Amino acid sequence: MFVRSWIGLGLAREIVFLPLQHDPMISAPTLFVDSDAIAANWLLLDSWHRAAGGRACGAAVKADAYGVGLNLAAPVLFEVGCRHFFTATIDEAIVLRKLLPEAWISVLNGLTPALAEKNIVPVLNSLGDIERWRRFAYEAEEQVSAVLHVDTGMARLGLDAREFLHLAAHPELLSGISLDFVMTHLVAAEVPQAAQNTDQTVRFRTIEATFPGTRTSLANSAGIFLGARFVSDLARPGYALYGGNPTPGHKNPMRSVIRLAAPVIQVRDIPVGASVGYNATWVATRKTRVATLGIGYADGILRAASGRLVARHRGVRIKQIGRISMDLMTFDVTEHPDIGPGSILNLLDDTITIETMAKAAETSGYEILTSLGKRYRRVLEHGYRGA
Ligand SMILES: *Cc1c(COP(=O)(O)O)cnc(C)c1O
Repeated sequence: MFVRSWIGLGLAREIVFLPLQHDPMISAPTLFVDSDAIAANWLLLDSWHRAAGGRACGAAVKADAYGVGLNLAAPVLFEVGCRHFFTATIDEAIVLRKLLPEAWISVLNGLTPALAEKNIVPVLNSLGDIERWRRFAYEAEEQVSAVLHVDTGMARLGLDAREFLHLAAHPELLSGISLDFVMTHLVAAEVPQAAQNTDQTVRFRTIEATFPGTRTSLANSAGIFLGARFVSDLARPGYALYGGNPTPGHKNPMRSVIRLAAPVIQVRDIPVGASVGYNATWVATRKTRVATLGIGYADGILRAASGRLVARHRGVRIKQIGRISMDLMTFDVTEHPDIGPGSILNLLDDTITIETMAKAAETSGYEILTSLGKRYRRVLEHGYRGA
């Protein structure tokens, strides 16, 4: 094990690198992030997109790289060849700019003149945004970059059909603005048969034709797997980079990126009829050995999943029992006498996936990732391939 400082990248926090297959002693809940898997996932998405006729592949790194840790993920992505990054907010983009001085960075929602001096490119979502950015360019007496977002069905952000027609009829509204990309966002890319996918590509091709010569950006993670009609100059995957399955219902083509491990802090034996946890939702029907982990819903283990989670210890699955509380959760380890204080349980790994946990909490893997707690130690690990 060696410790390397990323101060050179403008990052104050130290990152611990661990060698392949190493299961270290940990004394607190720890999120292991596999840098090789992130790199492999980006390379796979990039090659899929190119094979279908696309050009570059970028990365959505909003919400602290989907909860995985922006300071861990972004340098890995840049190193493997990713040059285009999307954040949701201006503050995220400013943090990213410090990490990656050379990258092209765009903010999906937020427009302020301060972006230009940090070389951050805003996404223009309305005629109002266009007007503000044009005025800024005029006052600054320079050409400013932007991405133009046209709504083709999501109805959240982006120029609606009426605004788009207005812009098409008045191209001078964009004077002083150089469009790096024109983009849209897919509503249901993870459902290949969804009618919206076709509708949106048809609309997007019209939009593309209105701005000849301007590069395009279309697919998210799942969109990359939809084939040639969904290619563009720049794909914007997020979820799949971090190990999420972009092809629900099919085998996950991505490599598992995170492993969440926590030590058992206490073990006790309880008699038949005794209950475990708040509101006594679980009652022992046999003499039971209970192991407690110091991790709970304050760490993103959603309370809604209470009684439905599993953990893994040396390849064996163990059932979670009772309510998940803020900082603690409990497991039935009656049949696992080798588990005691200090034993390490995996709550997420390559077999207990973010989708497994999402199902237990009746939510999406996206929410599991972005809920990942701030209290974990985050450790960048090379080449983790299962416990
Ligand atoms: C979040 C986001 C993405 C990435 O989507 P994934 O499904 O995570 O790949 C791409 N484009 C936009 C506009 C987004 O908001």
